[in-house]
Amino acid sequence: MKYRSTRGGVQGLSFVDSLLMGLASDGGLLVPESIPDVRGNLAAWRQLDFVDLAQAVISEFVDDIPRPVLDELVTRAYAQFDHPDVVGEVHLDNLTLLELFHGPTLAFKDVALQLLGQLYNYVLQQRGEHLNILGATSGDTGSAAIAAVRGQANIDIYILYPDNKVSPLQELQMTTVADSNVHCIAVDGSFDDCQGLMKTIFGDLDFKAQHQLGSVNSVNWARVMAQIVYYGYASLRSPEPANFVVPTGNFGNVFAAYLAKQMGFPINKLAVATNENDILARFFATGEYARGDVHYTLSPAMDIQIASNFERYLFFYFGQDADRLAEFMQHFQQDGKACLDAAPEDGTFMATSVNNDETLAAIAEAHRCHGYTLDPHTAVAYTAAQKLADQLQGPTVIVATAHPAKFPEAVAQAVPGLVPRHNTLDNLAGMPQRKLKVAAEVAAVKGVISG
Ligand SMILES: *Cc1c(COP(=O)(O)O)cnc(C)c1O
Repeated sequence: MKYRSTRGGVQGLSFVDSLLMGLASDGGLLVPESIPDVRGNLAAWRQLDFVDLAQAVISEFVDDIPRPVLDELVTRAYAQFDHPDVVGEVHLDNLTLLELFHGPTLAFKDVALQLLGQLYNYVLQQRGEHLNILGATSGDTGSAAIAAVRGQANIDIYILYPDNKVSPLQELQMTTVADSNVHCIAVDGSFDDCQGLMKTIFGDLDFKAQHQLGSVNSVNWARVMAQIVYYGYASLRSPEPANFVVPTGNFGNVFAAYLAKQMGFPINKLAVATNENDILARFFATGEYARGDVHYTLSPAMDIQIASNFERYLFFYFGQDADRLAEFMQHFQQDGKACLDAAPEDGTFMATSVNNDETLAAIAEAHRCHGYTLDPHTAVAYTAAQKLADQLQGPTVIVATAHPAKFPEAVAQAVPGLVPRHNTLDNLAGMPQRKLKVAAEVAAVKGVISG
């Protein structure tokens, strides 16, 4: 399989090169040059467990790592998950919850990042190279990225976060990791300051090259690829083609579902569930993609106005026409909005947005009616499934993206006195922490990376 950019400036890249490139060098996103049709394999694939299916699906997209090696990397990526099937399925009346939070940091990002960590490690060893990963986090992504590469000899990871502005639990998940290749940098400033620092440092191409800076952000193709697997897996376990309701921020997760459907997995509709940051819900209702103000909600991992993976969907929507896509994105970048002639009609997607009160009501209802505790991100999807029920025929799967114990404040707000627990988090209390406090200045952060 070869990869090309949505903007037309990059073609014929191997998988490994696309892994290392991340964002395409022409500013677009990398996509496979063709989408494999797997319909002929489905009867056999129905019998496979998660890891075997992951090996089969991923090998459709990776032909430049020997298959036995690839299989081993996949096996290792999922060895640390604490569910026997890697992902869990829970049935609440006629809804299925697909639990993707059984990895080391209890959020779905582990599914992709654990594999990315294995892939990077292998490729860097092969090439005799070292990578410095730089990232900024407002909470969830930092710990998942750290868990993916901790202890790897060829990687150092530097995570910037706003000091005193992430939850104590989220900070502990990062700062208690003892491996010496992990560097948690508490910036005296806001999350915007952290992102600004990162952008400036990545923009300094000399520094970037000199220090082999890389990122693990959600535009990396390998992350999307890893996420296709659980949609395939869940769809093959469903008696009829399933609908998926996906709590959505950067559109990476639900785009993987779209690809799974294009590959021929038995998938019906895809529902995009957003919180009050509703740029995507507005797009699917009207065809207008227009930036709004960021709202801070109970589901912070979805507090995103510009969905970085959405460009990949638009590329396919425009019939893989890179010129048309580039024009649309240019409008968006210039004017803060761009429009289709009408609401998109692709027969697959629907969308709705869910506010904080509805999120809390959903947590309370699922607890009362089913004795199940939803995290606030999953609660957004749960509510969206109810709102869209008329349009969702057949079995519906709600994608559960985080363990509720990660968001105890929201849960307690919904159900006073309810305290969701998880051993992994309980064990963090009192562990030694390591962090470097720095001023919100480029020179200070560069100083840490230069050692
Ligand atoms: C990142 C995240 C999301 C959003 O996923 P996208 O791929 O950005 O759409 C949803 N829920 C949780 C818990 C997350 O960490």
